[in-house]
Amino acid sequence: MSETAKPRKAHASPASGKNERPARGRRAAKDGAKDTGKKGTGTEPSKVYFTDMRCRIGTSLLDKMDKLMLAAGMERISFQNAFVAIKIHFGEPGNLAFLRPNFAKSVADRVKKLGGMPFLTDANTLYVGRRNNALLHMDAAYENGFTPFSTGCHVVIADGLKGADEVEVPIEGGVHLKTAKIGRAIMDADIFISLNHFKGHELTGFGGAIKNIGMGSGSRAGKMIMHNNGKPRVAHDKCVGCSTCARYCNQDAISFNEEKKASINHELCVGCGRCIATCNFDAIDTPWEGSSDDVNIRMVEYAKAVLDGRPHFHISVVNHVSPNCDCHGENDAAIIPDIGIFASFDPVALDKACIDAVNAAPVIPGSALGDRIGDPFKSGPSDKGASACGCAGHSGHAGQHDHFRFIHPTTNWRSQIEHAEAIGLGSGTYELVTIK
Ligand code: SF4
Ligand code: SF4
Repeated sequence: MSETAKPRKAHASPASGKNERPARGRRAAKDGAKDTGKKGTGTEPSKVYFTDMRCRIGTSLLDKMDKLMLAAGMERISFQNAFVAIKIHFGEPGNLAFLRPNFAKSVADRVKKLGGMPFLTDANTLYVGRRNNALLHMDAAYENGFTPFSTGCHVVIADGLKGADEVEVPIEGGVHLKTAKIGRAIMDADIFISLNHFKGHELTGFGGAIKNIGMGSGSRAGKMIMHNNGKPRVAHDKCVGCSTCARYCNQDAISFNEEKKASINHELCVGCGRCIATCNFDAIDTPWEGSSDDVNIRMVEYAKAVLDGRPHFHISVVNHVSPNCDCHGENDAAIIPDIGIFASFDPVALDKACIDAVNAAPVIPGSALGDRIGDPFKSGPSDKGASACGCAGHSGHAGQHDHFRFIHPTTNWRSQIEHAEAIGLGSGTYELVTIK
């Protein structure tokens, strides 16, 4: 069942700087915190901290990650006895590009050292796969190595067994949506941390912090709203007329024709998405109707609902940058070399810093991007696809190419950043601080 959350006060993360107000009256930055890495204000950029992938003998990348989190100021959040949601994508089984559990352990260990009680979390998926109910989702997480033994904390599926355990949260400053349906466990947490695998995405252009937070935290109904305003459909060629879906539909929205094929009455359907998870024949899905901009804008507003009113912190690992989402049961080869780890209180600045780093990187020959471009190391403009991304050429040198637009020409990642700035989620302007 969905319940409506009371409006919360504005941003309370240390990122919020001068506009900071107490978080739910109980969580905020520690007293005396000075350098908060706060959000850019238009004149002042947000700080994004970065460490590369180089590791001298005897120094693990995990050590560098911990150093990065501390340098970025994570310890200035008051973690004592707080429930801390670490939002992550566990990876669809078969995909190997998702973040290693070791990164999650590093974050969880730091949270515990600071007195917090971390758990790893994600919400169920809309589509048919192995993460569309809590049992399958936990199986997938364990199969991919996210066990309490390897990460030191538990997995909690945020929106419950069938993706319907949600809280309806007001979106302060929302332009297109007034409320967001977010997985309850995520909203119950005192502190929110996103741990993101940065990669390309076939619908949103790139998948980074904003997507992990906004789309990833939505309940099944929330995800449908972000994708298409929330109405699933039945594929009659797959429906066997078992009527299971109708038994689980609380709205009596599902009926059957003379051939015992199910149909959904969109006048009655409230878009809870429960029928999708209950159909064992993969006959129900949701049409992917929204344009890249539509989805990006709603996703940004969902991210705002998740973050407003409590401390939050964000880490993105830019490794194995696959062209598509980790929701696929496979991953294509990386399109650029591994870059490093980024951290910030500002998820928008964080995403922008990752975008800029990826677009400045050379293309890996033989990858999907390399194949589309031709020879990425050949100097001078290429006639292959220059018009697709609007850049001047494809020499593989810094700043000359929009890798995301080129690999998925119908997407527009800029709408994520622009709308996030417009509604006060963060700033696309940043200062990069490199940590050795
Ligand atoms: S659960 Fe699936 S197969 Fe069974 S009636 Fe519903 S749509 Fe058809
Ligand atoms: S048909 Fe029923 S179960 Fe399916 S999404 Fe609509 S209201 Fe929910």
